[in-house]
Amino acid sequence: MILSELLKLLYPPSCVSCGRSILDESALCTPCENTLIDFRERPLIANRALYSSFNYGEVASDVILAAKESHDRTCAKYLAERMAISFAQIANELPRRSYLLVPIPSSRAADRRRGFAHTKILTSLLIKAIESRLVRERQESHEAWEVRTLDLLMPARRVSDQTLLTAPERARNMSGAFSLRTDLIRRHEQSLKLGPGIILVDDLVTTGSTMNEGMRAFRSASLDPVAMLSACVAGRFLANKIGR
Ligand SMILES: [Zn+2]
Repeated sequence: MILSELLKLLYPPSCVSCGRSILDESALCTPCENTLIDFRERPLIANRALYSSFNYGEVASDVILAAKESHDRTCAKYLAERMAISFAQIANELPRRSYLLVPIPSSRAADRRRGFAHTKILTSLLIKAIESRLVRERQESHEAWEVRTLDLLMPARRVSDQTLLTAPERARNMSGAFSLRTDLIRRHEQSLKLGPGIILVDDLVTTGSTMNEGMRAFRSASLDPVAMLSACVAGRFLANKIGR
């Protein structure tokens, strides 16, 4: 018996939201997964479309928190796989020869507390999911494109925790929050000149102020991302205002 099977017997996989044991190693049981509502809109932030996988709610928040705060790899992979489906929509609607996925960074304090950079890991898993999901489709279509990631954004200054802030407070809090890694931009100047479709990546979009600041940082360097991609969306983009 291999180790992973033994571990499965000792610690059977369970749903991160309701705790029910599940057969396959997945983040959610089928009933919980069925409560997730696909996000089909394309709201604009800084005149670019936000693509997202599902609406924020109780189950979505359990998956996101486990990935983010408990370093739950199964949950992070689950988010990445759902986001790969949304990426396929971007590749379809905004065709490019290459894409550059840029994670929205957390604060340095949050990275230190967690011991890892959450959106960076999520973006790497997303690229893996995109490659395994789309590699066959790409071969069939003869329209090869590549997808890579670069950590071009970094926190420029300290920001407050956003949880209890209103939308205008969040916008003020995030203003000037990011700067671009000019060293990396210089190093990758040639490939950036070829105009890859830059896509900003985050796990959750609430008021859009964080994405808006990411867009602003790029535009200040005359780079214009083509879209934004998140696992889920809450707040002003949702009719029922689940945002918190
Ligand atoms: Zn469940």
